[in-house]
Order: sequence, then structure tokens, then C-alpha cells
Amino acid sequence: MLVTTFSKAQKADILIKNGKIVDGTGNSWFLGDIAVKDGKIVAKGHLDSWTAPKTIDATGLIVSPGFIDVHTHMEDLEKKDPEAKNFIFDGVTTVITGNCGTSRTDIKKYLDYLDNLKMSINMATLVGHNDVRKAVMGTANRTPTEEELQQMEAIVEKGMQDGAVGFSTGLIYIPGTYSKTDEVVRLAKAAAKYKGVYASHIRSEGDSVAIAVNEAIDIARQAKMPVEISHYKIVGEQNWGRSKETVPLIIKAREEGIDATIDQYPYTASSTNMGTMLPSWALADGKDSIVARLANPAIRKRITNFMLKGLKKRGKEHFSYAVVANYKPDKSYNGKSIEEVNTMLGKAHTAEEEASTVMDMMSNGGSSMVFHGMCEEDVKTIMQYPYNMFASDGGVRVMGEGVPHPRSYGTNARVLGKYVREQKVIGLEEAIRRMTSLPAQKFQLKNIGLLCEGYNADLTLFDEKTINDLSTYDNPHQYSVGVKYVVVNGKLTVNDGKHTGERNGRTLKRGV
Ligand SMILES: [Zn+2]
Repeated sequence: MLVTTFSKAQKADILIKNGKIVDGTGNSWFLGDIAVKDGKIVAKGHLDSWTAPKTIDATGLIVSPGFIDVHTHMEDLEKKDPEAKNFIFDGVTTVITGNCGTSRTDIKKYLDYLDNLKMSINMATLVGHNDVRKAVMGTANRTPTEEELQQMEAIVEKGMQDGAVGFSTGLIYIPGTYSKTDEVVRLAKAAAKYKGVYASHIRSEGDSVAIAVNEAIDIARQAKMPVEISHYKIVGEQNWGRSKETVPLIIKAREEGIDATIDQYPYTASSTNMGTMLPSWALADGKDSIVARLANPAIRKRITNFMLKGLKKRGKEHFSYAVVANYKPDKSYNGKSIEEVNTMLGKAHTAEEEASTVMDMMSNGGSSMVFHGMCEEDVKTIMQYPYNMFASDGGVRVMGEGVPHPRSYGTNARVLGKYVREQKVIGLEEAIRRMTSLPAQKFQLKNIGLLCEGYNADLTLFDEKTINDLSTYDNPHQYSVGVKYVVVNGKLTVNDGKHTGERNGRTLKRGV
């Protein structure tokens, strides 16, 4: 009888056979099988007695938990492609949005909207300081009153009650840059009450980077909460090499007992809005005020001086490092540096004229930009820190729209191709740990990020010999290659390299 019981076939929905299983813990790969049923991983090991209507021969493929991208900007982009193909083909099955202080302020409404939309990936969100501040005090360049602070606290608390996973800041952006540390601490405490994470785009990633890292750590210390420093980097030629100074600040914070971790996208260019090229005082009080300031010759002169000073610090003569990603009034600007745009417009080949071109573009609503300002050595130093996870800082992309930073398409494939396989900066199992269980642990996302029985069946199967990012700065609209199968909550979303059209993602709420 024992024999009968033993040989009795067990049924799964999907059976993955003979894969190299990398379970997300950082442990070595092993050869084995995985059974998926009713959205869960139900068995792992040598599953000879199992059958399923769908069997995947994973011979030669890595079987890993679906990747978790903790730093994205999805707001308004989800509906452009609910299949989220740029993420899915990069192996990503879960993203966290609401970063850099930008989020919806009504988290319940947003999560309901996402549940209705049904995406191919799971999504969680933070509640963002900039939008909370805007809701209460617009883009005023001043300290909030006690009453305004309480109103902001109430929005953050409500967001946390509605399921946000934490509180984010973008302290270089308007209006977050107008806040003092005390204000951020007060609002972070409102999220800490609900055990949220403090995720920060810190006040400087260039000249004042060490002070900014310490401010983020201090906010976590005061608010008694975990901190995630977003897209850890060193910007500006004059600062290159300083990751050797800033990574130890994280190590020191952890030694002190502060749960500090970081994330990174594996590129030497950043991407953000054009406004970051201007002094923050020039961008207060809304569009009309900005346009009025930019029409005033004396103010233009002050802004030009500010911009030229920054350029000189970088040791550059032209704004060649700043490339237009998506300028809505004129698509012919896209993909060109400010220096090139300026020349295209027939203006004199001087940095002053280029600064003036930037201000003219700002008067027309500005643009998203790609800034080439980091060095490979810092990227690698940061990558080698074990509590650094990989995150795109991207969003859903639509084929052919603008010339965006390639990170939205290629972050994970680039780590696995360029940095793991080719350059051996870190090992495969280590890279996968940082794409899966580390982000899940940090943001308290339950039952994902590991290949364990009972966990949700989010899986990425890829060929470690061919996985690669194809997206480049010049030609960004290319999906990564090498991801062969993706399963999201038990449903096959990529089958033999093709998106099945399945949209089985769900929203993930704090602690659920
Ligand atoms: Zn950011």
C-alpha cells in the first residue's frame, strides 16, 4: 500500500522540471523541479510523481523568484501598457511605486484603480512627501505652520492605513527641497507608527552627498524606522570615487542598529526632470510664477550664473552631459544633448546660450532628461555592498515614445549579463538574492521573494548564458533578452519568450 501512495500522481497547474533552482536566499543553485498550483508554490525538489497540464522543461535555465523592483515611478504610466512588458521581459514581477516623494495622496483610490486595471505585475506603493506637501501648501517655498504639518501627517497616516508600504521623499525636487529635516522627521514618524519604511531620494547625490546620506540616516534614527536610500550614486566628475566614503556610512548606521539599506540602477547616467538643472528658488509657486521669473532678465542672469558655476565644477565647457529624453513641445529635441539642441536652434556655441535654451524649454513646461554624470568605478563599489538591491527607477514604457533612460527596460538583465556573467562583479545567487528576498524583506512584502512551499508563485526563468539588456541610450526601446518564462501569481505570463497577455498581478498592501 505504501508503494501505491508513494507513486500516486499529484497534480499541479504548472510543473517546472530540471531547472537550476536559485531560491532567492543567496544559497547555491541546485537541480530540481517546482510545482505551482492555485497561485502558490506547492512543492520543490525532485517531483517525479507530479503531473500538470503545463510542463516546462527548464533544462539549462535558472529558476528564480520573480524579481522585485523597489524603486519605480508608475503613476499615470500603468494604463499605457498594463502588460508592463518592459518590466516583465526584464524578469520583474513586482514593483513598488510612489518613490522620490511622488505618489498619489489617496492611496486607497489608487490601489482600487490598480486592482481594476489588472496589470501583469504586482504593485505596492509608498506615500510621497512632495505630493502630500503640494496638497496642503502648494509649491510654497517656506516652512509649514503647525496646522499644515498636522494636515500632512493626517494624509500620510491615512495612506499608511490604506496599505502604503512606507513614506518617500524627493528632497531635490519641488516642493520637498523647501522642507527642513524636522518636517521630514514629523511625517516619517507618521509612517513609522504603521511600521512603514522611509525611502529617500536624498538632498544631494553630488557635492553634499555625505551630508545628505547622514540626514536620511538621522531621519530614520529620530523616527525609529528602517531607511532605504534610493538609487545610491555619486554624481559629478568632481565627486567621482566618493562611494568609498558613502558606502561606509551605511555600514556604520547598521552597526548603530539602524536598518539602513540602499538600491541602485546599474548605469552611469541618471534621469530626472530638467528642473533639477535650475536653482530650486526659481521653481516655487507654480507654472505662472516660473514663467514670469524666466522672463525677467535679471533673474535669468542669476540662473545662468548658477548653471555655469555647476558646469565649471564638473570641469565641462558645455551642457553635453544633459540629454533630452522627452520634450513634449518638439520631438526633434529628443535624444539630443542641450549642446546639440542649442546648435540645432542656430544659437551661439556657448554655455551661456545653452543655459538660455534650458530656461526657454523650462518656460514651455520643461522636459525629462538623461544626465551622464557617474563613473563605472562608483557603480561597482556600490554594487559590491551586500545590502544594496537593484531597482530601475523606471516606469512602464511605450515603444517609440521619447528617448528615455534604458533602465526601465534593462536593469536586471544588465546586472545578470554585464556585471554577473561578463565582469563577475558579484555572483549569480547573490545578485538574485538582491533582486528577490532582500527587497521583499525590506518592504515587508509577504510570501514573495523566495522559492518556498506556500509562497506565491511569482517565478522568472532565464538563460544565464544569454540574458542581456539591449536597451541603450541612443536606442532605448528594446526589451531585454534571455527571460524565457515568467509566472505571476501562478499564471504563465511569458511562455517561451512571448508575453501571453495574462494580467494576473495584484496590489500588495503593507504587511498583507
Ligand atoms: Zn529619485
